[in-house]
Amino acid sequence: MTTKSAAAAARATVYGYPRQGSNRELKKATEGYWQGRVAVEDLRGTAARLRRATWEQLSEAGIDEVPTGHFSLYDHVLDTSVMVGAIPDRHRAAVAASALDGYFAMARGTQDVAPLEMTKWFDTNYHYLVPELGPDTSFAADPAKQLAELKEAIALGLTARPVLLGPVSYLLLAKPAPGVAGDFPPLALLERLLPVYAEVLADLRAAGARWVQLDEPALVQDRSPSELAAAARAYGELGALGDRPKILVASYFDRLGPALPLLAKTPVDGLALDFTGRAAANLGDLAAAGGLPGKRLVAGVVDGRNVWINDLERSLATLATLLGLADGVDVAASCSLLHVPLDTSAERDLDPQIARWLSFARQKVTEVVTLARGLNGDSVAIGAQLAANRADLASRTASPLTRDPAVRARGEAVTGADARRSLPYPERAAAQRTRLALPPLPTTTIGSFPQTTELRTARADLRAGRIGTEAYEERVRTEIRDVIAFQEAAGIDVLVHGEPERNDMVQYFAEQLTGYLATQSGWVQSYGTRYVRPPILAGDVSRPGPMTVRWTRYAQSLTGRPVKAMLTGPVTMLAWSFVRDDQPRADTARQVALALRDEVDDLEAAGSAVIQVDEPALRETLPLRTADHAGYLAWATEAFRLTTGGARPDTQIHTHMCYAEFGDVLDAIDDLDADVISLEAARSHMQVAVELAGADYPREVGPGVYDIHAPRVPGAAEVAALLRKGLEAIPAERLWVNPDCGLKTRGWPEVRASLANVVAAAREVRARL
Ligand code: GLN
Ligand code: ZN
Repeated sequence: MTTKSAAAAARATVYGYPRQGSNRELKKATEGYWQGRVAVEDLRGTAARLRRATWEQLSEAGIDEVPTGHFSLYDHVLDTSVMVGAIPDRHRAAVAASALDGYFAMARGTQDVAPLEMTKWFDTNYHYLVPELGPDTSFAADPAKQLAELKEAIALGLTARPVLLGPVSYLLLAKPAPGVAGDFPPLALLERLLPVYAEVLADLRAAGARWVQLDEPALVQDRSPSELAAAARAYGELGALGDRPKILVASYFDRLGPALPLLAKTPVDGLALDFTGRAAANLGDLAAAGGLPGKRLVAGVVDGRNVWINDLERSLATLATLLGLADGVDVAASCSLLHVPLDTSAERDLDPQIARWLSFARQKVTEVVTLARGLNGDSVAIGAQLAANRADLASRTASPLTRDPAVRARGEAVTGADARRSLPYPERAAAQRTRLALPPLPTTTIGSFPQTTELRTARADLRAGRIGTEAYEERVRTEIRDVIAFQEAAGIDVLVHGEPERNDMVQYFAEQLTGYLATQSGWVQSYGTRYVRPPILAGDVSRPGPMTVRWTRYAQSLTGRPVKAMLTGPVTMLAWSFVRDDQPRADTARQVALALRDEVDDLEAAGSAVIQVDEPALRETLPLRTADHAGYLAWATEAFRLTTGGARPDTQIHTHMCYAEFGDVLDAIDDLDADVISLEAARSHMQVAVELAGADYPREVGPGVYDIHAPRVPGAAEVAALLRKGLEAIPAERLWVNPDCGLKTRGWPEVRASLANVVAAAREVRARL
């Protein structure tokens, strides 16, 4: 370990913390407020208490500079829109009537007014509200929230650093407002926005902020020369302001690349860089750029978005290297801790041996503090922590959970042939046609049917011990009978069992695979008051027994028509979990794929002629930099083909993805070699079909003809028109008829009416072929 001491003492800090509280108090208070059960003062009181508890906890743990402004009642990007006065016209009246209700109206919409669009925050599973901007947008500073939270922290006697979304990323994350030309670049508003930031910075300075952090994560993505120039201009201008706090520009989730030397040259006072995973390239890039002479470097060496303990000695070595590259190095988590659960000590059901490997937000704070002490040469004080850390890491490496010899041997024996079907598509298609004897334009659905009240109640009763497994499974069988009977009566060609046994498409499989852990309280914010508990992929993956076969077999026993079996694909199984960091993702994906491959085998043996492997996450897990896309897509598609490659030629493999824009993964979709792919297409009027045809996609396609995101029932004529549009691109023998996605969020009445219209439209178009 290092005993080198820095010129200035290293400080420990973080950029943000989970907002919800240990019992998700924020969710309860907010939803209570929406329902009129919680008074506005009580919501505000809960929020203030949670902020205070977080700051006190951070300070007691040894964090020298606490962040402020990262807290949010809904989303920090929406908070930024409020801070700069970018309120869409349609929300102005509501905001004027009540700032708080207007804020929630922008987030969630009202009966009459649509909310802002929501999209993924980089490649995390957090979603933000997209700012809507246009040439007429005028900004006005509204720093009230930032100022109030700074003052709260200062009143506690703490050194506080406001954290704001930076102006460049704010604009790069925005989209043209409705009615504005689609090619309007929000970044064109930079000159107009900077004075607003200057005003907020001055106000924060006056309120006692010595440092302010401006987050610029958008600069870790590929940026055009003009975007980079805009970033340089922005920080040139903000840095040149007279009355301002010191400015720390933060980036995370990946390397800064060309933006690094550029920001280093601006007159800001410090950079915060991510040194974990792919972003570790920042180290070499920083050295090549000549370091940050005269500036502060905040080193994100503790992974802020995964759940594993840090390798403290390795981080200390990185920090020691960084010491020579800046005028003071501070220690931080790589990004806001928003993306990890709160505290491992809440996990009482976890094997204590395994819990030692895990580090949630609270534990990460301790790691950051320990590393700062180590960097300050306090080797005696942290000796015990280092020894414990070494032992925990060793126990993880040596554990049979992370090293299952049978799983490893099987992974190593995989050959290229395993990841390929035994016959090419045209021959498979002929065999499948003979076996399935489907009409042209066959109708099907994506898998789930409405989750009924009876089903939800039964699941809750099972969890609470009010009913036993037998009663619960009888409920599931009843649902399957209803779903099969409905589909037969409706005249659907390829049926599904409706997925009533699944709470969640990833969790259901995670619970049955060895190598996955579940948490009790590991909540992570997905958006607003919605939290998810991602499973943790902790060890080598194997399948103790069939996971879906009995339900599919039961469904098939009820009908003479083919029932399509449903699996969640390996890429999605990784994307919506916390994934182990002690081996490449490709290796983990391969293990999951091999387990799923056995499920495909068992389904075939049980008589399934059609099997769907869902990969809705294939595109959303794309690395942030295009240079990394090919490497990712290579292992991702291989994992899919390994899942399905053992299937008989006359078994029809379907896949499904939930999006309509997939230009950047078109080749990968082809590489999956699935016999049939279904995609979202209703809203884009079959654009997907046109694009696939344009790329000479050779296999079968089911572009969605029923938008399942709203309760609206599409008319038969409208569906028929979409089908005819699809037929202009894809020939009838390769075109399927299906909804955009699963039906689990819909109600039965709409589903009944909609699917009846879908079948009627398919019949009508078929009759005129
Ligand atoms: N088969 C799943 C369902 O129908 C697919 C869900 C998804 O694509 N996200 O619910
Ligand atoms: Zn979908």
